Amino acid sequence: MANPSSANDTEVLIVGAGPTGLVLALWLTRLGIRVRILDKTAEPGTTSRALAVQARTLEFYGQLGFANMVVERGRWATKANIWADGKPVAQVDFSGMGEGLSPYPYPLVYPQDEHERLLVERLKDAGVAVERNTEMLSFNEAEDHIKAKIKKPDSTEETCRAAYVAGCDGSRSRVREMLGIGFPGGTYEHLFYVADVEASGPMLNGDLNIALERSDFLVVFRLKREGQARFIGTVRDSKQADENFSWDDVSKGIIEHLRTSVRHVNWFSTYHVHHRVADHFRKEQAFLLGDAAHIHSPVGGQGMNTGIGDAVNLAWKLAAVLRAQAKPSLLDTYEPERIAFARKLVATTDRAFMAVTSSSSLARIIRLRIAPILAALMLSFRAARRRLFRTISQIAVNYRESSLSRGHARSVHGGDRLPWVKTDSSAGFPDNFAPLASLDWQIHVYGEATADVKALCSTRKLTLYAFPWQSRMKTAGLWRDALYLVRPDGYIALADPQGKAATIASYLDERGIVLK
Ligand SMILES: Cc1cc2nc3c(=O)[nH]c(=O)nc-3n(C[C@H](O)[C@H](O)[C@H](O)COP(=O)(O)OP(=O)(O)OC[C@H]3O[C@@H](n4cnc5c(N)ncnc54)[C@H](O)[C@@H]3O)c2cc1C
Repeated sequence: MANPSSANDTEVLIVGAGPTGLVLALWLTRLGIRVRILDKTAEPGTTSRALAVQARTLEFYGQLGFANMVVERGRWATKANIWADGKPVAQVDFSGMGEGLSPYPYPLVYPQDEHERLLVERLKDAGVAVERNTEMLSFNEAEDHIKAKIKKPDSTEETCRAAYVAGCDGSRSRVREMLGIGFPGGTYEHLFYVADVEASGPMLNGDLNIALERSDFLVVFRLKREGQARFIGTVRDSKQADENFSWDDVSKGIIEHLRTSVRHVNWFSTYHVHHRVADHFRKEQAFLLGDAAHIHSPVGGQGMNTGIGDAVNLAWKLAAVLRAQAKPSLLDTYEPERIAFARKLVATTDRAFMAVTSSSSLARIIRLRIAPILAALMLSFRAARRRLFRTISQIAVNYRESSLSRGHARSVHGGDRLPWVKTDSSAGFPDNFAPLASLDWQIHVYGEATADVKALCSTRKLTLYAFPWQSRMKTAGLWRDALYLVRPDGYIALADPQGKAATIASYLDERGIVLK
C-alpha cells in the first residue's frame, strides 16, 4: 500500500473523492507521493452528472495509462441535431473535428458515476483506498504542515498531520471556508432538471439532440446502453418546484412535439446553476481545486474536466517540491495558471448560457430561427469545426503568461500544450505523446539534437526524445531542430528555435529544477 503505516502522517491530505480528488491522488501516487484521500459519503456518486470527457482529459489519462479503457466504456458524440418547435432545423457533423489535433478527436460521452468508479478502481490498483464515511472537520496550518481534525466512520476523531491539504471537496468546500477565501459570483434564476431515462423516438438516434422552443429547451444525450438517455431541460415555473418536484411535474410539451416517449425514469434531479470563482486557489499549505475553486453552467461540458486539469497541474508541482526537485516557489504558479482559465471559462459559459435561456423576444427569434442555421452553416467549414474542437476539448488551454513559460518557436510558445503528432516507426513511438507517460520533464527535438544538448541531457538526467523530422510536424506547428523542454503535464516550458543547451541549463537553474 502507498499509504503510510501511521494514518496520522501523510504527505498530501486530499479532501473529497470526486473526479478532481481521485485524479490528484492517482497522479501523486504514480510519482511515489504518500496520500490520504477522504470522502464523507459512503460510496462514489451514483448519479450520472457530468457526461462529457474532453480530449485534454483523455490525453492526461493517456499519460496515466488508462485512456483506452475510458474510451472503450464511453461513446463518441459524432453529430448534433438542432430542433426548433419540433422540427429538425440543422445538423452539425463533428466528424474530422479534431483529426490530427489530438489522439481523441471527438468529445466522449461517459457518465460521471461510471467514470468515478473507474478512477476508484485504478487508485485501488495503485494501492490506495478511498477512506469512506470519513469527514474533514477542520484544520490549522503550522509553518510547514497542516493538522486536520477528521471524523472517522465510527464517529471518533483523529488528527492527521500532512505537508499539504488539497481541497477537492466540491462547491460547498469546507477547506475553502476554513481558509476564509471568498467565492464571489451568483446563481442563475432558472431551475434545471436532469433525468436519466429509458425512452424511444427520434431523439434517441445516437446523436446529441438540442431542442429549442419558445420558452423551453431540452438536450438529449444517448447513453451507451440502447434506449437509455440523459435529458436536461428547464423547469418552466421554478416557483412551483419544491423538494417534491418530480418528473411527473415537468412540462412534457417539448418532449411530445419531438414524438419521444419515456418508459421509465431511472434518476431525476433539479438544480440551480451557479457561476463563481474563488478569490484564491492557494493559501500557504492549502490548495483549492475543482468545484471547490470554480463552478459554472454545464453548457459545453467543461466543469469536471476543468477540475481534472487543476489536479494534474498541481500534482507534479507538489511532487517536485516534496522531493526537493524544485524550489517551493514552483507551487506559486498553480493559482495564476489555473485561476486565469477558470475566470475565462465562467465568462464564456455565462454568455453561452444567457443566449440559450434568455426570454426576450429578440433573443427568442435569434435562438429559434437564426442561430441554429448560422451555427450549422459555419460548422460546415472544416476550419470552424477545428476551432470549436480546440476550444471545447481544452487542448487550447495554455499557460503563456506563467512565470514557467519561456520562448517560442514559430507559432508554438512556452506555456502551450505540446502539439500532438503521429510519428513513423523509426521514432520508436507511435506518437510524440507516448514518452509523456513517464510523468517527468523531458526534451523533445523534431529533427537533429546537437551534441551539446545530448551532453546536457545526460548530465542533468533529462530524457531526450529526438524524433526524425516529418512534414506533418510542420503542420502541427513544430520547428525543425528546435528544442522543446516539456513539463511533466505535457505543456511546453521552454521553446528555443536555436536549440541551444545553455538556454535549458539557465531555465532549470533559475527554478532550482533538479532531476534525480
Ligand atoms: C445534477 C448535476 C448535473 C451536472 N451536470 C454536469 C454536466 O452535464 N457537465 C459538467 O461538466 N458538469 C456537470 N455537473 C458538475 C460536475 O458534476 C462537477 O463539476 C464535478 O463533480 C466536480 O468534481 P469535484 O471532484 O471537483 O467535486 P465533487 O464531485 O463535488 O466531489 C467533492 C467530494 O468531496 C466530498 N466532501 C465534501 N466535503 C467533505 C469533507 N469535509 N470531508 C470529506 N469529504 C468531503 C463530497 O462528498 C464529494 O464526494 C453537474 C453537477 C450536478 C450536481
